[in-house]
Amino acid sequence: MKEVYKKSVEDIKEILGVGSDGLSDAEVQKRREEYGYNELRESGKKTVLQVFMEQFKDLLVIILVGAAVISMFLGNVESAIVIFAVIILNAILGTVQHIKAEQSLNSLKALSSPVARVFRNGSKIEIPSREVVVGDILFLEAGDYVSADGRIIENYSIQVNESSLTGESESVVKELYTIEASNVPIGDRKNMIFAGSLVTYGRAEMIVTDIGMSTELGKVATLLETTKEKKTPLQVSLDDFGKKLAMVILAICILVFSLNIYRGYVLIDSFMFAVALAVAAIPEALSSIVTIVLALGTQKMSKQNAIIRKLQAVESLGSVSVICSDKTGTLTQNKMTVKNIYVEDEIIDSNKLEINNKLQEKLVLMGLLCSDAISDEEKEIGDPTEVALINLGRIYELKELSIREKYSRLNEIPFDSDRKLMSTLNKIGDKASMITKGALDVLIDRCTSIESTEGIREFTQEDREKIEKVNEEFSKVGLRVLAFAYKEVDENTVITLEDEKELTFVGLISMMDPPREESAKAVEACISAGIKPVMITGDHKITASAIAKEIGILKDESEAMEGYELDMLSDEELKEKVEKISVYARVSPENKIRIVRAWQDKGNVVAMTGDGVNDAPALKQSDIGIAMGITGTEVAKDAAAMVLTDDNFATIVKAVSNGRNIYENIKNSIRFLLSGNTAGIIAVLYASLAALPIPFAPVHLLFINLLTDSLPAIALGLEPHKASVMKEKPRDINSPILSKSLGTEIFIEGFIIAVCTMIAFRIGLFYDGNKVASTMAFATLCLSRLVHGFNCRGKESVFKIGLFTNKYLWLAFGLGLALLNIVLLVKPLGGIFQVEPLTIHNLKIIYGLSILPFILVQIYKLIFIKAK
Ligand code: ATP
Repeated sequence: MKEVYKKSVEDIKEILGVGSDGLSDAEVQKRREEYGYNELRESGKKTVLQVFMEQFKDLLVIILVGAAVISMFLGNVESAIVIFAVIILNAILGTVQHIKAEQSLNSLKALSSPVARVFRNGSKIEIPSREVVVGDILFLEAGDYVSADGRIIENYSIQVNESSLTGESESVVKELYTIEASNVPIGDRKNMIFAGSLVTYGRAEMIVTDIGMSTELGKVATLLETTKEKKTPLQVSLDDFGKKLAMVILAICILVFSLNIYRGYVLIDSFMFAVALAVAAIPEALSSIVTIVLALGTQKMSKQNAIIRKLQAVESLGSVSVICSDKTGTLTQNKMTVKNIYVEDEIIDSNKLEINNKLQEKLVLMGLLCSDAISDEEKEIGDPTEVALINLGRIYELKELSIREKYSRLNEIPFDSDRKLMSTLNKIGDKASMITKGALDVLIDRCTSIESTEGIREFTQEDREKIEKVNEEFSKVGLRVLAFAYKEVDENTVITLEDEKELTFVGLISMMDPPREESAKAVEACISAGIKPVMITGDHKITASAIAKEIGILKDESEAMEGYELDMLSDEELKEKVEKISVYARVSPENKIRIVRAWQDKGNVVAMTGDGVNDAPALKQSDIGIAMGITGTEVAKDAAAMVLTDDNFATIVKAVSNGRNIYENIKNSIRFLLSGNTAGIIAVLYASLAALPIPFAPVHLLFINLLTDSLPAIALGLEPHKASVMKEKPRDINSPILSKSLGTEIFIEGFIIAVCTMIAFRIGLFYDGNKVASTMAFATLCLSRLVHGFNCRGKESVFKIGLFTNKYLWLAFGLGLALLNIVLLVKPLGGIFQVEPLTIHNLKIIYGLSILPFILVQIYKLIFIKAK
C-alpha cells in the first residue's frame, strides 16, 4: 500500500475493509487467495534430480565411472554394467538419505516457525506468522519479531529495532500521529512498523498493510537465500579425516598397483583393481551417515519436546557440563496461586479475606488493574503471576474486564524484568491513580507513606522492618511476593519511570508456584551424569533458595548469590567462585552472560535457558541456548539452538541424554565402517606382499562397500538409546571422535576379520584353485562384516544390551545376507559378480569363519567390559 503513513487510521480501515471485529474467516480466505501467504520467497532449493546428480560429484565415483568406461572399451562389458548398477544404486541410496534428512530438518523448522497474535472474528487468536493477511489487526509486544508491515492503531510506548531495514542499531520510538509529508524515508515513518523489526519495549496494535514480498523487507531481500545448514564440527572433522585417509589409501593403492604390474598382471586389470581397492577402503559414507543420524535424532528429540534449531546442538548436548536454568516455569509449574495477602500488619490467608474490609479489597483491586492477564473458566491468557491476581479478584466478585472498563487505563509503564516493576495510570472517579506493583526490594525504597484503615501516614523505619520480615517469612517457604503501592496524579500525566517514587505502600500478595514433579528427579539425573545444574532467576534469593533446596540444586544457603553481589565481583573473582554457586537470584540479563562466560572460562560446555527479549545475548554466548516454547519471546527462540515445547527442565536433561546417545551411535557407525574397510585393506596388502593371487575381483569390493555396508551403518546410528550414558561424565568437547583407543579397536577388529578372510582364501587356494578361493574370500569378508555389525552396537556385549533390541540392524543384516546369497547361489549372476559355485563344505567354512570375529569380540566384552 502506498504512503500509508499519510492516511488516517479510519481511512486505512475503510480502504482495507476492516470492521470492529477484525477480519472474518471468509475475508481471510479471500485475501489469501488473492495475495498468497505472508512469506518471503526462497531460492536455492534443490530438486530431487539435482540431489541425485550431486551424488556423482564425488571424486571416487568419477574415478569409478572412468574405470567402467575404460573396461567397456576394452570389451569387458559385464563388469562395466555391474559398476554402473552399483554406482546408481548407491546414488539412489544417497538421494533417499539426503531427502529424508532434509525432510526431518524441514519439519523441525516448521515446528519452531514464528507465530503472530491477531484480532479476527471479534477475538484475539494466535496463528503462524505466514497466515497473516492484509487487514489483520496485529498485537505486538516486547520480544516479538514483526511479521508484516503495518500502521500503528494503538500505541503503548512501543519501541522497535529496525536494524534489518535501516541498519540503525538503536531502538526507535514509534508514534500514532499521521504524517503530512510525502516521500518519507523508512526510518522516519514513525507511525509504521515493518516486517523484520524486533519489538524491544512496550506494546502496540497495528493494522497490516503489506505482507510477504510486498513488505519493505521483501523488497530489499527480493530473494531470500535458503539458509544453508552449516556443517557441524563433527562433520568437518570427519571430512578432514576422510581427506587424510584418502591420501594414505592412495599410497596403498599405488603400492598394490605397482606390485601387481611387477608380478606381470595385465595393466588394465591392475588398474581396475587399484580403483576398486580405493573405493573399498575410503569410507565415503561417513559424512552422510552423520547427517542422517543427526537428522533422525532431532526428529526423535522433537517428539520429546526438544526442537533442535541448529544441528550442531545435538553434538554439543552430549558434552554439556553445566545447565543454567530459569526457575519460573522451567523448574516450577508456572501455575501461580495466591496464598496470603498482607495489609496493616496482618497476614491473611487468601481463603479468609474479609468481604467488608476496604483495604483488603483495595489491594485485590489494584492487582486487577495493574495487570494485563485475562482469566475465565475456559482460558487463562497472560503472565501466570497476573492470572493469580485476577483469580483472587473472584472473592470480591471483581471481573477484570468490567473493572478495567470502569477504571479505565490512561497509560502505563510495562513490566520489565530488569526493573522488576509495572505501573498503570487508571481513572478512578474524578481522580487518576498510578498503581505500581513489583518486587518488594525495588518498591520499598520508593514508598514514603503507608495506608491503613485509618488513612495514610508516613512510612517509618519500623514499618519497613515489619514488611521486610514478612517478605522474608513468605520467601523462606518458596512463595513469590509482589508489593503494591500507588499515588494520585493529574489525569493528563503521561507516567514515566521518573514517577515511580513517593508512593503509598498498601500491601503484599504472596503466591505459590510449586516445583514440577519431575524436576527433583531430573536434577538428580544431572548430578549423576556429572552435570552441574544452576538456577538463575529474577525472583527473590530466599524464594529461589527454598525451591532450589526442595529439588536438590542447592545444599547450603552459602551457594546462593544475588545479582548485585555478582556485579561487585571482577571476572577473575567470579571465575574463582562460580563452581560454588548454585543459585543466582535477582539477576539481570548481563549477569547471565557473565555467569556463562565464567563457566566457559573454566572449560565447561554450558547450556542456558532464556525467554525474554534481553536474554538473546546470553543464549548466543552459551554453547547451547535453550528458549522456552510456551512463554519464550520470538527473539529468544530465534537466538536459541534448541526450543523446549514444554518449557520443562526435565526435557533438557532428556535432550542431553539423547545427545550423548546420538554421539555414541555415530561413533559405533564409524567403528563399523572403518573396521570393515581396514579388514579389506589388510587382506589385499597381505595377498600382495605374500605374492598370492589377487583375492578379490573389483566387483566384490564394490558390492561390499557400496551395497552391504551402508545399511548396517545407518542401522547402528539408530541403535535404541541407553540409559547408562547418563552414568558417565560429560565427553570432552575437544577430544576427537576417533580417539586412540577407538583407533586401536578398529585396527584389531579389522585385523581379525582380515585373518578369517585370508584363512578362507588359503583354504580355497589349497583345495579348489584361484576362482573358488576368491569367491570364498569375498563371501567371508562380506558376511563377517555383516555379523560384525552386532559387535559395534555398544561398549558391552550384545547379550547384555539385548540381542534383538535393534530391529533395524537385523533388517540390514537380513537384507545383506539375502543379497550375498543371491549372488552366490543364483547361477546366472555368477558371471557378472565373478563368483564360482560353492560346495556345502565351502559354505560351512565361510559361515564358520565369518562368525569367528563376532565370537571373539563378544567373549572379550563379556569378560572385560563391566556393565554400568
Ligand atoms: P525466572 O528468571 O526464573 O523465570 P522470574 O519469572 O521469577 O524468574 P521475573 O519474571 O523477571 O523472574 O520476575 C522478577 C521479579 O519481578 C519477581 O520476583 C516479582 O517480584 C516481579 N514480577 C514478576 N512478574 C511481575 C509482574 N507481572 N508485574 C510486576 N512485577 C512482577
